[in-house]
Amino acid sequence: MGNNVNSFENSFAEYCGTKHCIGVANGLEALRLILEGYKTVGRLQEGDEVLVASNTYIATIFAIKQAGMKPVLVEATTEIYNFDIQALEKAISETTKAIMPVHLYGQLAPMEEISKVAKKHNLLVIEDAAQAHGAKNENGKRAGNLGDAAGFSFYPSKNLGALGDGGAITTNDDVLASVLRKLRNYGTSSKYVNELTGFNSRLDEVQAVFLNIKLSKLDSDNNRRREIAKRYSSEIKNKKITLPKWNGNEDHVFHLFVVRVEDRTDFMEYLKQQKVGALIHYPTPPHRQEALPEFNSLSFPVTEKIHNEVVSIPMSPVLTEEEVDRVISVLNSW
Ligand SMILES: *Cc1c(COP(=O)(O)O)cnc(C)c1O
Repeated sequence: MGNNVNSFENSFAEYCGTKHCIGVANGLEALRLILEGYKTVGRLQEGDEVLVASNTYIATIFAIKQAGMKPVLVEATTEIYNFDIQALEKAISETTKAIMPVHLYGQLAPMEEISKVAKKHNLLVIEDAAQAHGAKNENGKRAGNLGDAAGFSFYPSKNLGALGDGGAITTNDDVLASVLRKLRNYGTSSKYVNELTGFNSRLDEVQAVFLNIKLSKLDSDNNRRREIAKRYSSEIKNKKITLPKWNGNEDHVFHLFVVRVEDRTDFMEYLKQQKVGALIHYPTPPHRQEALPEFNSLSFPVTEKIHNEVVSIPMSPVLTEEEVDRVISVLNSW
């Protein structure tokens, strides 16, 4: 936590348009610490319900559980792989205190609708921005500045990645920020004076050096990702492949380019034969995971359909035009 962390925090806060950025050890802890911070300031308490999309990456749900709160899963839609807003409002109970939207695959969650629901029911909005560094809404506001606080991950494969683990929290809340600066480092604001039962969740100085350099390339990397996404969107023409819904704006930074197919086994086998890399994000929905037995008997048909059909095709700012050509022609020939 020296000059490089400090300098990265200032640059990333400025980039996101927020008053504060607090570097932490990873994305999971960024999300958990936000909740712990709100507990410390008395805005949240153990047992509170937090609404989360049932198709999110499991980290969002773990963060809520580890902070002693109750994740309430809300069904998704296949439109933008995010909250079904009607289901979101229906899931609100007396003990609901926060909504934790995820900008999944790099596409902003429907924040306007979510904020409306949050305002009406007096709920906190905590963004899981781990896949959406730099995504911008139509007013030019970026991920990390669209709710009360946001958690980022700098895991190497994210749009802004370190060369190891790292994470950050952004917020405009002075009180929360000051508590988080203590909580991430043993509850101290000066050495060996422990004011809170804190965590060891520091952003490493060495990772901050890499992040400072890579932040200057984030916009051009995201633009390149969108260029590739535009080519995929207009040139992949195969009735068996459903393309992601996107309006062409900067609200998507294409952390992943996710298509859907009904016969995924055949598609994956074909891509393997053609030597086109493909991954599944994610093969098993959180409510079917052994780690979350309390949800195992629940049914989320849309989420299950998403998990059965999604395939992430090659997406990276370093893909060449020839590689993009080849992905397109291989997909069109399936
Ligand atoms: C990567 C990721 C996280 C967790 O980040 P780590 O740094 O791996 O702990 C949380 N949420 C989402 C949506 C992610 O993609």
